[in-house]
Amino acid sequence: MGGTARCFVCGRRASVYVSYLGEYLCPEHFVEYFERRVRETLVWFRLVERGDRVAVAVSGGKDSLTTLYLMRKFSEEMDFEVFGVAVDEGIAGYREYKLEALRSLAREIGVDVHVVTFRELFGLTLDEAVAALRERGFEVKPCTVCGVFRRYALNRAARELGATKLATGHNLDDEVQVFAMNLIKAHADGIVREGLVTEPASERLVPRIKPLYFIPEKEVLAYTLIKGIHTPFVECPYIVYALRHPIRHWLNEVEDEEPGAKYRVLAFKEVLRNALPPPPKEMMLCRICGEPTSHPVCRACELKSYILSTRAGRDDAGRGGRAAGVARLPPHPG
Ligand code: SF4
Ligand code: ZN
Repeated sequence: MGGTARCFVCGRRASVYVSYLGEYLCPEHFVEYFERRVRETLVWFRLVERGDRVAVAVSGGKDSLTTLYLMRKFSEEMDFEVFGVAVDEGIAGYREYKLEALRSLAREIGVDVHVVTFRELFGLTLDEAVAALRERGFEVKPCTVCGVFRRYALNRAARELGATKLATGHNLDDEVQVFAMNLIKAHADGIVREGLVTEPASERLVPRIKPLYFIPEKEVLAYTLIKGIHTPFVECPYIVYALRHPIRHWLNEVEDEEPGAKYRVLAFKEVLRNALPPPPKEMMLCRICGEPTSHPVCRACELKSYILSTRAGRDDAGRGGRAAGVARLPPHPG
């Protein structure tokens, strides 16, 4: 936010500095600039079409709330339906506050939200899963389990609710961070898969779209402050275990030194995606849960059985889960 700087469009007092443009904007022109880019992303890349039924994956954080808000805003003019799908992983002291923020915005803008829980789908909460992972010295990280379970839960819920698209709140920073992580792990398939649109290889997978793909995280924050989209400042307790955490800090330092660096990395990712071979398309159905997968047992079922093979996992499943008895397979590293 700039002190006495002036908006480069109208000359009024500015409140946002857009570093890669080297320009200041007043709240009104910043909002216009922000919304126009999201709208153009939807139109230019045909992320939505008339008659679509769009499920927005909402966590209650600023990115997903902004996505829900804007998809609702554009839905009438562009003639598509919108509803929210939220996943309650069971992270005490965190998720309940975010879900509260989500319910309050959804009420305000008149959008239905459906909540699915890890407990109902996998038989245990993420907090309980983390106790089991701890027992094994975190050879699998909490975010790995959380990410796999959440993708599974969102796709299944969106499909069962009749969605034709699943919109997520991933912004430019998220995309660049994931790209950096895929580079570090030499994950060529991950690089090819993570784009603006994910065309599914199975009709049981809902196509995923990312309306905030070109928007830096800092701008999403500025937008929520200007528009009064509130979310409590609580962080997931497991973020400290994530590789993403140091990468995020490092990329922010690079961007401060070199404004526009994140956009250049995103552009380079596209070059690389086009040069790399597409991942294999064949999909089968998981022999345990029936969801689409590229292996005989899907990653969610594999991780679930890994967790249940620990003492903490068995105890937790015994307390209310219904997941006992699945195959016990070794996990991929992660
Ligand atoms: Fe899940 Fe990791 Fe995000 Fe926490 S930080 S919500 S564990 S992905
Ligand atoms: Zn499965």
